[in-house]
Amino acid sequence: MTKSMGTVVARNLAPELTSVQECRQLTGSNPLFGAVFTQHMVTGQYDAENGWHDFQVEPLSPFSFHPATSTLHYGQAIFEGLKAYAQPDGSIAVFRPEVNAQRFAASARRLAMPPLPEQVFEAAIQQLVDVERNWVPQGYGESLYLRPMMFARDARLTTRPSATYTFCLIACPVGAYFPNGVSVVTVWISEDYVRAVRGGTGEAKCAGNYAASFLAQQEATANRCDQVVWLDAIDRETIEEMGGMNLYFVLDDGGQRKLITPVPTGSLLKGVTRASLLTVANDLGYQVEERRITTEEWEHGSRTGTIVESFACGTAAVVTPVGAAKSRKGSFTIGDGAPGPVTMELRQRLLDIQHGRQKDTHGWLCPIGPAEKG
Ligand SMILES: *Cc1c(COP(=O)(O)O)cnc(C)c1O
Repeated sequence: MTKSMGTVVARNLAPELTSVQECRQLTGSNPLFGAVFTQHMVTGQYDAENGWHDFQVEPLSPFSFHPATSTLHYGQAIFEGLKAYAQPDGSIAVFRPEVNAQRFAASARRLAMPPLPEQVFEAAIQQLVDVERNWVPQGYGESLYLRPMMFARDARLTTRPSATYTFCLIACPVGAYFPNGVSVVTVWISEDYVRAVRGGTGEAKCAGNYAASFLAQQEATANRCDQVVWLDAIDRETIEEMGGMNLYFVLDDGGQRKLITPVPTGSLLKGVTRASLLTVANDLGYQVEERRITTEEWEHGSRTGTIVESFACGTAAVVTPVGAAKSRKGSFTIGDGAPGPVTMELRQRLLDIQHGRQKDTHGWLCPIGPAEKG
């Protein structure tokens, strides 16, 4: 870790809110996702001469930019999303930060940005969660959502990779995604718009992928759907993923339940939740296959009863059941349209691991060190 990150200077902002409890008193409910921030952020700088340097924990405050700042024009911007969970013994643990560190570095390489060393990423997470430990909510399904990001800082319009970058890490306390019981989503299969194409940036967690997705999301909303399902950009048949989440399908294989998830093609984003569920499903005795699955198979299987459940997975909502799908051609229901038993079993198991209620047999929980005495 760089010298400047060794000492945490947690300056007091003296605001009204100092913990998630107070924040809850103020709002009278769980904070909305991504709308309430903790008091500090970690920042770090990159330039060719010094490499990554000048990391600090500082009060969360706005940036100011020159109008020519490269990110605003050419979009060299990447991010990550991961969570810290309160543990039964009062400690705090972050779920698989090393995998996010690897993906952050891979995203940086794809956008010709300087990868942040993985141990620096992990140290930033440690430092911020340690400083903000009072902001980690205690309830089941609640967590401190962590948002690392990196963006280009050169103030010039030349079309080339920026020579300077800023890393920043912020945090939001988030409530249970389904405070009133798990509900299903209806999805819109997008046939006109695509999110990503092989050879493009679909495998990188970059800001531009989201910009490319919002119009289709509006189309989904206009069709009374909650989320978009993306298809392969070339064949427009192969299912890739859903909004910012990956998809799973539960098959009835002669009475046995079997799981299918789309095989990575180079254009879908390989989620940490997706990868974790491959393992969890195996642990629970399910056979899991990564393979191509088309909209035709999904619809036909759902109609004939060979596909009995579908769900989406990602850090924010963990596991979300998909009850029905719509497209311009019509709609179909999956199973009886309600959350299915395999979906709920996997969801429960993964949440139990994240909250320390199940043995962490795969070493996925990264403990946050005790508060530094100063
Ligand atoms: C972040 C993301 C996911 C889910 O990844 P997790 O690591 O499980 O949170 C899936 N699809 C897209 C497009 C994403 O950006």
